[in-house]
Amino acid sequence: MIYSFANTDQRRTSLIEILQRSGIDFEVSEHDHIVVRVLGRLTPDIEQKIREMGISIPSLKLSHQPEVDSYEQIRSKRELTIIAGPCAVESEEQLATITERLHSLKVRFLRGGAYKPRTKVDSFQGLGVAGLRLLRKFADRYSMKVVTEVMDRSQIDTVAEYADILQVGSRNMFNYTLLTALGSTNLPVLLKRGMSATISEWLSAAEYVTRGGNDKIILCERGIRTFEPEVAHTLDVAAIAIIKLRSEYPVIVDPSHAAGRSDLVLPLARAGVAAGADGVMVEVHPQPAKALSDAAQALDPDQFEMFVTSVRNCFTAGKTT
Ligand code: PEP
Ligand code: MN
Repeated sequence: MIYSFANTDQRRTSLIEILQRSGIDFEVSEHDHIVVRVLGRLTPDIEQKIREMGISIPSLKLSHQPEVDSYEQIRSKRELTIIAGPCAVESEEQLATITERLHSLKVRFLRGGAYKPRTKVDSFQGLGVAGLRLLRKFADRYSMKVVTEVMDRSQIDTVAEYADILQVGSRNMFNYTLLTALGSTNLPVLLKRGMSATISEWLSAAEYVTRGGNDKIILCERGIRTFEPEVAHTLDVAAIAIIKLRSEYPVIVDPSHAAGRSDLVLPLARAGVAAGADGVMVEVHPQPAKALSDAAQALDPDQFEMFVTSVRNCFTAGKTT
């Protein structure tokens, strides 16, 4: 739940007081206005007290409003959803090249990390807000949607200003304060499976978001840790089929982070689509060898073009069988 106040509006002090008195967790951030994000649940009597202060119940909407509902687009399964782009946003030139190619292939979702969860502290950590701006700029040029990761709840307002879908990374699937806070946004949440999470734990993580009032969940299978060293992670194809049996959520397969190598990206994507995935998320880079992160798994633009044709054929074949 988000309450937004003009800088001069003192009613926020009364709201903060009542939240503190009631032991409800919240955080305050300052933009051109002041935002009080309520992280706990408000009971009807507290809501009533807030209304009595002349503060109306807020809308869940944040400033950037997607014109077409991306969630419905993915859920409708009219076409295979393809989310593609670099692992990390690196430069204007990189996104210009990639988005032009995505657009020519009628790919509607642009991915790219502006905040990168890197295993090694010295690795490239992303461009931050500059990366978000580039994503929005090039997505808008071609009427595409932006899918990008939010690593921490303090980043939610900023990322939500630029993104259409908020990604929770594998390393954060168990971050319950982040998940709860995402429940108070109205943007779809693409929840990646924790690399060591069971299917039940993954679905329980989704419930943290839905309890907060946001049921636009997209689940993304990206491989789990096993003893097999040939791949970065083992793609759990069964999980895709099981999620389809146990929930209504759309499922996306991410063959890039499962494989960790570009030559396995297509077969794993096809396996995921055959198992019932509604879409694929794949990493593509103008010059994979020069990528600042996940270079070994990125497809180059020509490989990506073949990839798109092949996974679309697989999806169409699955519809007719
Ligand atoms: C990503 O999609 O760039 C990413 C970091 O993936 P994961 O969280 O699955 O490792
Ligand atoms: Mn990556």
